[in-house]
Amino acid sequence: MGDVNSKIPASLQAAIEYFSAPEVCFELAKDAKWGSKGPECPNCQSKRLSFIKTRYLWTCLDCRRQFSVKVGTIFEDSPIQLKKWFCAMWLLANCKNGISSYEVARVLTVTQQTAWFMLQRIRYAMHNGTINKMSGEVEADETFIGGKARNMRVGKRMAKIRGRGPMGKAVVFGLLERETGKIRTSVVSTRRKGELQRCVRENVTVGTAVYTDALKSYDGLDSDYAHKVVDHAEQYVDGNVHTNRLENFWSLLNRAIKGTYVSVEPFHLFRYLDGQAFRYNERKLTSAERFQKVLDSIVGKRLTYALVRG
Ligand SMILES: [Zn+2]
Repeated sequence: MGDVNSKIPASLQAAIEYFSAPEVCFELAKDAKWGSKGPECPNCQSKRLSFIKTRYLWTCLDCRRQFSVKVGTIFEDSPIQLKKWFCAMWLLANCKNGISSYEVARVLTVTQQTAWFMLQRIRYAMHNGTINKMSGEVEADETFIGGKARNMRVGKRMAKIRGRGPMGKAVVFGLLERETGKIRTSVVSTRRKGELQRCVRENVTVGTAVYTDALKSYDGLDSDYAHKVVDHAEQYVDGNVHTNRLENFWSLLNRAIKGTYVSVEPFHLFRYLDGQAFRYNERKLTSAERFQKVLDSIVGKRLTYALVRG
C-alpha cells in the first residue's frame, strides 16, 4: 500500500484530477479492501476468480457469483462513482474545521442531499472503524451521557435527562468485540427493547456470544445469540460474562465530555467528536496519510480503541 499512499495528492485540485481516473480508484479501493491477500469471493471466500477487465467485476469460479470492489463497503448499493466518494473522503480527512454538505456538493457537483448522505456514510464508517458485523464474544451495554442512568436515583436521573435536552436523546448504546477490542456506539432515542435489539442485530453476527446486564430490554436476544446476563445487583463479573470493558469505555467517555463540550447536545456532540478526534489524533500526518487512514477505516482495518483493550 506504500506506493499507492505516496501518490495520493496533497491539494484538492490535484485530488480531483487524480481520482478522476477509474483505474486509480479501483486499485486504491481493492488495495485498501483486501491488501496483499488479494480479492476473494464475498459469498464463499474462494480465491478462484475470473476478472472482467472492461467492467471491473469478478466472477467467482466456485459459486459463480459476480461482485465489484464496492461489495461489503460503505460504497455498496450506491450509484455514486468511486471518484466522488474518494474526493469526499479526501475533503473530510483534510479540512481543518470540518466540511459541510454544501461545500462537498459544490466541489463534487452533486446535490446537497447526496453530499449529506455521503458524509454520513463516511463518518459512520470512521465512527465504527469497520463495515463488518462483530463476532466471537461481544459486550453490549447502554449509558446516558453524564452518568449511567440506571444507577442514579430517580430524581437526579430526571434532572440529568432534562438538563441535557429532550428525554431519550442522550442514550448511547455500545458494543465491544472482545477479540479486536473494537467498539461501536450509536445514539438511540430510547432504551426500549425494539431499539436496543435492532442495534444488536444490525451490528452482530447471528450466533455470537452476547453479554449484557439484566436490563429487560435484552430479554429475547437468546433466539439468535448465545446471550448471557450478569446481574449487577448481585455481581459484576461471572467468569467470562461481564461488560467491564464497555463500562470502562463509558467512564473514559464521560470524563472526556465533562472536561470539554458540556453545552453541546449529545447527538451533535458525537458527530462532532468523531471528526475532531480523528483530525486531532492524526494531526502529524500529511494530507495523503490522513486520507489513507480514512480509507483504511472504511474497509475495517483500523480505529481500534487501544484504551479499552483488556
Ligand atoms: Zn464464491
